[in-house]
Amino acid sequence: MQDNTMLWENTLQEIAIQTSKANFNTWFKNTLIIKNDQGSIVIGVPNEFVKEWLLTKYHKVILKALRDRDELVRVVEYVITKPEQAIQQQKQIQKQKEENPNELPLIEISINKEDNLNPKYTFDTFVIGPFNELAYSASQAIISRPTAYNPLFVYGGTGLGKTHLIQAVGNAYKQKHPGVKVFYVTSEQFSMDYINAVQTNKINSFKEKHRKYDLLIMDDIQFLSGKEKTQEELFHVFNTLYDNNKQILFSSDKHPHFIQGLEDRLRSRFSAGMVVDISQPDYESRFAILKTKAERQRLNIHPKSLEYIANHVQGNIRELEGALNTVMCQIHLKQKQLSQQEIQSLIKTTGKSKKNISIKEIIKLIAEFYNLEEETLYEKTRRKEVVRSRQIAMYILREDFNISYPLIGRKMGGKDHTTVMHSCLKIKGELKNDPEINNEIEKIRSLLSI
Ligand code: ADP
Ligand code: MG
Repeated sequence: MQDNTMLWENTLQEIAIQTSKANFNTWFKNTLIIKNDQGSIVIGVPNEFVKEWLLTKYHKVILKALRDRDELVRVVEYVITKPEQAIQQQKQIQKQKEENPNELPLIEISINKEDNLNPKYTFDTFVIGPFNELAYSASQAIISRPTAYNPLFVYGGTGLGKTHLIQAVGNAYKQKHPGVKVFYVTSEQFSMDYINAVQTNKINSFKEKHRKYDLLIMDDIQFLSGKEKTQEELFHVFNTLYDNNKQILFSSDKHPHFIQGLEDRLRSRFSAGMVVDISQPDYESRFAILKTKAERQRLNIHPKSLEYIANHVQGNIRELEGALNTVMCQIHLKQKQLSQQEIQSLIKTTGKSKKNISIKEIIKLIAEFYNLEEETLYEKTRRKEVVRSRQIAMYILREDFNISYPLIGRKMGGKDHTTVMHSCLKIKGELKNDPEINNEIEKIRSLLSI
């Protein structure tokens, strides 16, 4: 019989050929054969998701690939094996939860003031799929072979991962080439710094500062549009860096060709190296992104629910994150798993823009948020928690949806418009000194996508 490690290596090689890179990384990373008892194989997987997924989607492929390599293989099962580190982290989060039951666990992350890089943006958390593959490989090229493409220009719509990608390049570059000087700046910040330097007579030190970088990363350069002086300065910075073989990386929401109000000489510099785009993620990529994020948050959510979100939230990655956060928030609030139906109604409501959500739907969502039946909000009860939830519903209808006081009164079980006015005023007053109510309203707003 073969050695388990070899057998699994060979099997994975076969599976890798049959699956996309994103899928392979998502489902087969950190798996191993932990037992092979005369052809009865136990595969260790990192968590419940992977277990479910391998079982439902890849079982046949795995079994066949294993049998092709070892004809003794009869059965395969999957068990969760957690590496030591994951157990430690889990313990820490558990402790945080016990000490602070109302807080979601947050990992402290700080931005480096020298280079403006945020360590949270790494390639470890960056899912690669057909939609961003090209941008990803071009960035890998400049990390290992600086100036392979110079400049590298990444463009794509909002929320598709430009900032994440270029920040990750900065972080990886620093790690790979210790001692290099990396600098990340948004074009707006660059412009403000420039104006500041002019006003305070520090233009020389501004120039010097920007010419000493080994890698200059400038985000969202579409905002340079119409800023002639800043463009001129950037043109000079660019030339100096370029002539000294320093790497430059730009991002923008459009191809350089389509950025309005940009000097031609800058436009041609931007396009002179490599121009790559990031497009909308496909279903599989959306799913892989959700899965990665849920895992990082240690969120125990059924793969079917993730499938549902991936299917229904088809916009950019920020929207995907928003939907997942909404679900996470509810799981946290209710302290239990959500049913498939609850997830569906949550995503349905959040997916709608505030223009086409009905008053009834808003009230229903607020009632659900407070774990109350929708009907109780219409009733004449004086139960404290009902009264408060009703007042908050009125407040949101008025403030966020601009519904008239009389209509709110009618919709909320036939209340007089003065009652509604009084309720709104009351909540407004409480908002000034009660952070708890602020917090709740913010959560409701995020559920309503406003
Ligand atoms: P952009 O700069 O294009 O507007 P961001 O880089 O800010 O978009 O991305 C929006 C959010 O989506 C961020 O939280 C980011 O971490 C996340 N994100 C973007 N692309 C990916 C990806 N490929 N894998 C995982 N998360 C991603
Ligand atoms: Mg960005």
